[in-house]
Amino acid sequence: MTKPKILKVAIPAVPFFQLFEYLAPENGENLQAGIRLEVPFGKTSKVAFLLATSSESDFPIEKLKPITHVIDDAPLLAEIDLKLLDWVANYYHHPIGEVMSAAFPAALRQGKDAVIKKLPKQSETDIKTTQLICNEGQQNAIDTVTKSFNEFNVFLLDGVTGSGKTEVYMQLIQTVLNRRQQVLVLVPEITLTPQLQQRFQARFSTHIAISHSKLTDLQRKNAWLLMQSGVCSLLLGTRSALFTPLPNLGLIILDEEHDSSFKQQEGFRFSARDVAVMRGKLANVPVVLGSATPSLESLYNVFLERYQHLPLPERAGNALPPLVQIIDIRQQKLQAGLSLKLLETITATLEKNEQILLFLNRRGFAPTLICDGCGWVARCVHCDANLVIHRNKNLLRCHHCGTEHRLISTCPACHCRDLTSLGLGTERLELVLTHLFPEKKVIRLDRDSTSKKGALDDFLTQIHNGDAHIILGTQLLAKGHHFPNVTLVAILDVDSGLFSTDFHSGEKLAQLIVQVSGRSGREQKQGNVLLQTRQPTHPLLIELLRDGYAKFAESELRLREMAFLPPFSYQALLRAHSEKEDLPQIFLQSVADLARNLNLQNVQILGAIPAPMARRAGQYRFQLLFQHENRAALHRLLRELIAQISTLKLATKVRWSLDVDPVDLF
Ligand code: ADP
Ligand code: ZN
Ligand code: ZN
Repeated sequence: MTKPKILKVAIPAVPFFQLFEYLAPENGENLQAGIRLEVPFGKTSKVAFLLATSSESDFPIEKLKPITHVIDDAPLLAEIDLKLLDWVANYYHHPIGEVMSAAFPAALRQGKDAVIKKLPKQSETDIKTTQLICNEGQQNAIDTVTKSFNEFNVFLLDGVTGSGKTEVYMQLIQTVLNRRQQVLVLVPEITLTPQLQQRFQARFSTHIAISHSKLTDLQRKNAWLLMQSGVCSLLLGTRSALFTPLPNLGLIILDEEHDSSFKQQEGFRFSARDVAVMRGKLANVPVVLGSATPSLESLYNVFLERYQHLPLPERAGNALPPLVQIIDIRQQKLQAGLSLKLLETITATLEKNEQILLFLNRRGFAPTLICDGCGWVARCVHCDANLVIHRNKNLLRCHHCGTEHRLISTCPACHCRDLTSLGLGTERLELVLTHLFPEKKVIRLDRDSTSKKGALDDFLTQIHNGDAHIILGTQLLAKGHHFPNVTLVAILDVDSGLFSTDFHSGEKLAQLIVQVSGRSGREQKQGNVLLQTRQPTHPLLIELLRDGYAKFAESELRLREMAFLPPFSYQALLRAHSEKEDLPQIFLQSVADLARNLNLQNVQILGAIPAPMARRAGQYRFQLLFQHENRAALHRLLRELIAQISTLKLATKVRWSLDVDPVDLF
């Protein structure tokens, strides 16, 4: 008698770490890993992914159920894709079913047919626009990466804004396309895809597949299948595009590699940058990480000679570096956060018909509504946070849980009518600027003003064709955009970044200052950057402005080394939350006890302590931090711990999640 064939499958959205076993159908001997199946699960049926077959099971065979049916004739994922996903599930200690589902667009997860209806017209990949003549740094970067085609190497393209990194990418892409291989290009933000897409379209005649979360299910499925089938050669997308199967992969490019948007901050918390490097390693292809402000991790990897450094120290063409100045705003009267000096510079810039970019990282009208009569403050009942005033929508809104109330004019505590809007948000700044410069067009770019489809494109057009004079916005503006006529950039409030408890904050602030500065004077005109601060002698600011980002990064790395912080150690953060106040702490305390019992390698276990925002969306939140200088030792403990955590009494009563290499300790 032949032994029955057993199928080991991953099931999405099921928080289990192991594979599920089913019986193969008759004549199912040749089913291959990488296909989708439908399987009975509880009272329903689910789409599952076949990962392995076997003739043996740890379970009694007669208890196994047969699958319902086979969806795909041929595997959608190749062996190398499965290998990567398996590595990722292990590294992030995340349930394999959820990792697998991240690799598929929603339509395929739901079991829809894996066929593309409309194929894009393909033309030969000739060069459309003429390419520029490269400078020495660019040519060196191109030559070095080109020598490494067909082997794994990580390159850090470390080029100031406007130094011509994109030009380097495009020439490398061209070579890979000529070799009939595929290229994966990742950017941190959806808003950065249109401009890169345009530049690619002007350069290459090949079809460009786009993948990010604002597309429809059908669009995403099509992009996925175009790449997976090898029909299309160039994929441009955000973090979620990372797992798209690419049978002829030749090169991975990740732009703005320092950006924390590459780290998924909920659910399956992977770092697209780190996984991209592993993907390059498995596929044996070069990975190019580009940034004007490289992360400390990547710079440290350069120091360790794991990554190759490709510096582009100068702006391309004739563009000059911007002039950066600090404005001391202590004891100054500010008008809606604007100092006299800044207002004068704005006026002078407008007179020259040049554009201005003002940066304020706070949405809404004002962050606090307070009663002058009794001191009452509008708080969110579900979070440890104030409600933010949104005048345009006539709302009070919590930025952490989304709770909304009508904007009130009477104090609910003392019934007086003396409610004051305290502080400054982008809406208020917009209003004030419109009053101060009535004949000028002011536009505001933040998550509220760009939420409608097409809104951001409209704004970008208005900036590019010169209709907009003053552009104000949040960090949405800080990234990668190229505005040739902007010559004045100002950060209204640098100080909020100087006093965070998170050790990443110095690095993030320095990156922000340099990135925002990079938005000014990108072509022939001299750019000016003004930083308003009440800490004009703060070492970070002084050092950054005097010595530049590279020197800043060096001394910041030295500080991290002395404190044993990443990248000199490795961290994982276990978070727990519950509606019941004491459960998360009790749970994490028992996890900590369990971990201490298992801990042969002396992994540091810190906590449990309340999360920086101890209550959010009605949930009480605690966290437990693990840290060790040896990555393998940390992961050995985590593996054991995760395997045993379900034996704890409270494991099913609280919600918990593990964040490996956290970038945000919130
Ligand atoms: P980055 O991506 O580093 O910000 P870009 O590639 O966008 O820089 O280049 C900035 C500007 O300089 C673009 O307008 C680009 O066309 C131009 N440029 C790039 N390389 C050169 C070069 N070698 N000589 C002259 N101009 C260049
Ligand atoms: Zn009151
Ligand atoms: Zn809230």
